[in-house]
Amino acid sequence: MPTRKKRKLRLWALLTVVFGALALITLAINAFVKPAPVQEGKEKAVANAELPEKSDVTEESEETADEPQEEEEPVIVADPFTDTDSLLLLANKKHPLPDGYAPYDLREPNVASVYDSAPMRDEAAAALEEMFAAAAEDGVTLLLGSGYRSQEYQYQLYSGYCDQYGCEVADTISSRPGFSDHQTGLAADIADHDRATYLTQEMEDTPEGIWLRNHAHEYGFIMRYPKGKEEITGYAYEPWHFRYVGRDYAAAIYNVDEFCSFEEYFGVEGGDYYE
Ligand SMILES: [Zn+2]
Repeated sequence: MPTRKKRKLRLWALLTVVFGALALITLAINAFVKPAPVQEGKEKAVANAELPEKSDVTEESEETADEPQEEEEPVIVADPFTDTDSLLLLANKKHPLPDGYAPYDLREPNVASVYDSAPMRDEAAAALEEMFAAAAEDGVTLLLGSGYRSQEYQYQLYSGYCDQYGCEVADTISSRPGFSDHQTGLAADIADHDRATYLTQEMEDTPEGIWLRNHAHEYGFIMRYPKGKEEITGYAYEPWHFRYVGRDYAAAIYNVDEFCSFEEYFGVEGGDYYE
């Protein structure tokens, strides 16, 4: 073989090796670097664990349906207490809900109840079902009272009390429309098995009241209007009214003490109406 041809062959062999190596390195880099965005997404999901994913909201997904995948990532949630997707959505006498707000994922919990209908948001309903089943296993029979109440229904309720007792008295027994925790779809009034103490403070001494006070947090519920916190929450002690916030927060709040309020734990304003 002539020397020139040999050199040419050697050069080709060298080039093949070099490019082959480059290709392998590129493959290796792709394999290790590509999964990074997925990892980032996972961390974000953990950080926002208490918030349902934006993509669950029908209106949102309609708006973003045509956009590429990456742009569907939610913009950072500024305030979990006003974001209607958040399980910490706050309704008290200082913080009304967005006017006319109604949750998009209401359903009837599959539990024994006082009324024909007491819808709750899907996740809260599932947690409530689990809680009622656990109570039953401990020999405690719970009954669901009110769940979600619409702003319109709350208006009828409140104005009825206003007509009957005057609005000053009405404010002590009912929320004004737009201010009720029940409008979040995350709240439940719970009755004892024979409703003997339903919606009364005597419930705290019943087996149902005691069980709820000690175990509701295990299922993501907190006592929304605890004893001794009337000035802070703006409501009298309601040993029957429980609010779903998710298990992590419910446990954290309960671990402060059994009568720790939402307002205290999160440092948000409560108490009476502005006027
Ligand atoms: Zn209630």
